[in-house]
Amino acid sequence: MLGLYLHIPFCSSICNYCNFNRGLFESGLKDRYVAALEREIRDSGAGEPADTIFFGGGTPSLLEPEEIERLITACRESFAVTPEAEVTLETNPETAAPDRMHGFRRAGVNRISFGVQSFREPELRRLGRLHSAARAREAVADARGAGFENISLDLMMWLPQQSREEWRESVEALIEVGPEHASLYLLELYPNAPLKEDMARAGWSLAPDDDAAEMYLWSLERLDGAGYGQYEISNVARPGRVSRHNLKYWQDGAWLAFGCGAHSTRDGVRWKNVSSTEEYIARIAAGQPLAVERREMTTEEQLEEALFTGLRLTDGIDIDKTGGRYGVDVWRRYGAALEPFLEARVLYREGPRLRLSRQGMLVANEIMAVFVDPC
Ligand code: SF4
Repeated sequence: MLGLYLHIPFCSSICNYCNFNRGLFESGLKDRYVAALEREIRDSGAGEPADTIFFGGGTPSLLEPEEIERLITACRESFAVTPEAEVTLETNPETAAPDRMHGFRRAGVNRISFGVQSFREPELRRLGRLHSAARAREAVADARGAGFENISLDLMMWLPQQSREEWRESVEALIEVGPEHASLYLLELYPNAPLKEDMARAGWSLAPDDDAAEMYLWSLERLDGAGYGQYEISNVARPGRVSRHNLKYWQDGAWLAFGCGAHSTRDGVRWKNVSSTEEYIARIAAGQPLAVERREMTTEEQLEEALFTGLRLTDGIDIDKTGGRYGVDVWRRYGAALEPFLEARVLYREGPRLRLSRQGMLVANEIMAVFVDPC
């Protein structure tokens, strides 16, 4: 079934490490954008079955609950959204007052994904985040109070000046708060990130690579012990609480993405909407096409993508099934290049399945590169 992604490109302030398609919140622009987004959804839907809706951004929780409801209704009236569909709202803790959380729940949201990033004040300040650690805890309590039983928290590791012990504090705080799902991301510094300048000016540094590896492995073991199961390189969940929407990205699924800069993939075709918020609104008003990039992927590209995204999952991939879908004997093609990784025990072959070990997840890019260039 389809996943539906809705992009909300507004934020209250811009974090110094952020490379997403977003801009500062402006009430008038937001009103026009929501109307355009609703139009795009209604014009695209042909009643196909869908079982996930994901509001991402940006900061989707800056929208009013009535606006979220309008957009969910547009999805439900334009697609055959299953009654038990997973409906996720990415939420920043500073936007999560109790009345708003009740409003989002009534609007049909049933999963909240909080961008917490850290439970330590100095780290939140270094990242330019608006919330405090106390607000993050309250936000989860507000969501619980509104009846949310499926909550996810994002944390970022390997932050400037962060020691292994400080990272552990955030993981312990997460366990204490007790979400059903957690995503642990490594900070990635893109070339012109303002955080790079902040780091240079303040003399902040990153811990050595070995520490980052230790932080990663330690947190996964700690989360195992706390009842979370890792299911993807960066994601853990309590039983039955994996992100059904994100699984579509890793399991060679299909999704339609609405809004400025949104990427869709379906039946081997991938396209991207125009990035600029104003231009997106203008194109909708003029009835012009939104896609600025559209590519029919070759069978080869689809196979490569299915293999390297599937390998991100702890269950790995069934190479017989995946190869069968694209008419390729995967082992014959890639086996020789994969052998050294099997010998190093960073990759396992179990029947038709290939999967990474936890150590292998640390060198996943190297292993996945085999699928792009087997020589
Ligand atoms: S809140 Fe999220 S999307 Fe907005 S600037 Fe910060 S990291 Fe980027």
